[in-house]
Amino acid sequence: MLTSKLDLEKLNIEFEARKPQEIVAWAAREFSGRLAMTSSFGPESGVLLHLVSRADPHIPVLFLETGYHFPETLKYKEDLAKLFGLKKVIELRADPAKKNELVVKHAGVPYEKDPDACCYLNKVEPMDAALKNYGAWMSGIRRHQTDFRKSIRIVEEYEGGLYKISPLANFTSRDAWWYLKEHNIPQHPLFEKGYLSIGCWPCTRPIQAGDDERSGRWAGKSKKECGLHTFFKEVQPTIKDKDQKEKDSDISMDI
Ligand code: SF4
Repeated sequence: MLTSKLDLEKLNIEFEARKPQEIVAWAAREFSGRLAMTSSFGPESGVLLHLVSRADPHIPVLFLETGYHFPETLKYKEDLAKLFGLKKVIELRADPAKKNELVVKHAGVPYEKDPDACCYLNKVEPMDAALKNYGAWMSGIRRHQTDFRKSIRIVEEYEGGLYKISPLANFTSRDAWWYLKEHNIPQHPLFEKGYLSIGCWPCTRPIQAGDDERSGRWAGKSKKECGLHTFFKEVQPTIKDKDQKEKDSDISMDI
């Protein structure tokens, strides 16, 4: 069944006061059979994976297998999938020929010579192709993670008819930590070693106490996003939507 056009203005006002589990349950109903979530199986991924497994463990979980993950992440992925009874964890990969071309061009280290191209090939392109099979994409991003993310809305519409849902938009790191503890969910094994945000090993460093939690990603570079959350073009919000988005942003910055 196709989802009728959603009233995003109304939904987003309502969802600001809702718990993440209520938003996930709504998404599972509204986009039944056409909803996927993405996960990096990082330190806070257990929260959304747990919520989704409770709503419907058949919801596909898309994982970008870049070939550059820490072995601990791959093991954590297997462990959580088993623990939560996830029925469909799908690995997405770059086109092998294009990948080989980029690796050769950059002498085996594309992540050092051209991280934007590396992320585009290994993350954005496979995700863009995969999302064509779905009507909505659920992500665990949170407003206080990066400047770009400060202005996300809980439900957004993208060109091509894709909706993106961020049930944890208002979560803090502390909320995530408590959620994992409360539900007895194991933490990523590298978390205790100072890795608060974890992506591919060439672009992830442990951080010191007091550092920004994402400062270990692409450390020493101006790059802050892999491109997954900036690539898709949002359908232009109405003037009223824009006003609300600015208000949402102000609220998140006050927290
Ligand atoms: S995070 Fe680094 S290694 Fe992973 S795809 Fe991006 S540039 Fe390449």
